[in-house]
Amino acid sequence: MHQVRLGLKGPEVSEVCFGSLAISPLQGRVSVDQGREILTYAYSRGIDWVDTAEIYDNYSQLKPVLAQCPGLRIVTKSYAVTAEDLFASLEKARKELGRDFIDIFLLHEQESHLTLKGHAGAWEALLEAKAKGLVGYLGISTHAVQGVRAGALQPGLDILHPIINYQGLGIIDGSLEDMLQAIAFAADLGIGIYAMKVFGGGHLTKEPEKALRFVRDIRGVQAMALGMSSLQEVDYNLALLAGEEVPEQLKNAVAHRERKLYIADWCQGCGACVEACSQKALVIREGQASLGTKECILCGYCGRVCPHFCLKIV
Ligand code: SF4
Ligand code: SF4
Repeated sequence: MHQVRLGLKGPEVSEVCFGSLAISPLQGRVSVDQGREILTYAYSRGIDWVDTAEIYDNYSQLKPVLAQCPGLRIVTKSYAVTAEDLFASLEKARKELGRDFIDIFLLHEQESHLTLKGHAGAWEALLEAKAKGLVGYLGISTHAVQGVRAGALQPGLDILHPIINYQGLGIIDGSLEDMLQAIAFAADLGIGIYAMKVFGGGHLTKEPEKALRFVRDIRGVQAMALGMSSLQEVDYNLALLAGEEVPEQLKNAVAHRERKLYIADWCQGCGACVEACSQKALVIREGQASLGTKECILCGYCGRVCPHFCLKIV
């Protein structure tokens, strides 16, 4: 698999990062063991880093694979606000992933310089953790144009993980063009960039070659996280990226069915999911949660906050 360097200061990694949300309990597409098998297979095919987050709740799923594959690098993310929160998140990651050293640690979903300012304590703690040799590279993930611009200027930041796809799905504060300009700005400063939601959370899988080619051709994006929930999906994506003819059998095996957010009718209308959705895709209508006019990117983040287990990606 093609190796790339993330920015001027980042590590050398495979062009594809394994997005483990797709095998996590949060999305519930595969069992824990099947997820391990898929990740192990992806590693054997040359994908040498895996992306997770504290909220994916899958550290215990990843731990045996990380033990078995010492060359597999790990990225995790935390919503920590204070230094105390951050050190607690870092210790949880180190302990539950079975790794003393976290290769890349990101602050999760930073929207602007104001969000970063609010998380200043956590950022200071990350800098300290890096100086102590507990973490390799620091960065943020973001769904926002202003998140990319603020991240690029954040002292000590090595890596950005922005949402980007050919329709601009999931960008919360601007157009696709705005995001491309922000990415170019960050790239000019030497920041390493790997793309998130290349397939728009499943909405763009009808034209996978177009989706991959678009992201690959963006100036400043060196790599991409791809969520894969079957062995065939690994083969399929790697064949497309290698420019190989994909056999019909493999195409049929990964023929993507339409996925959607299912909201159970026992919803109590508490609004917790509305608050949790950075896409503003949910509204309360007639006392129950409902999808509004904004695009749902099928991230599954709303599901984890529902006290009544009403939300599921199906
Ligand atoms: S509605 Fe739920 S699954 Fe859809 S974008 Fe919002 S948090 Fe993600
Ligand atoms: S969090 Fe659950 S119960 Fe509350 S509004 Fe959302 S779906 Fe309904």
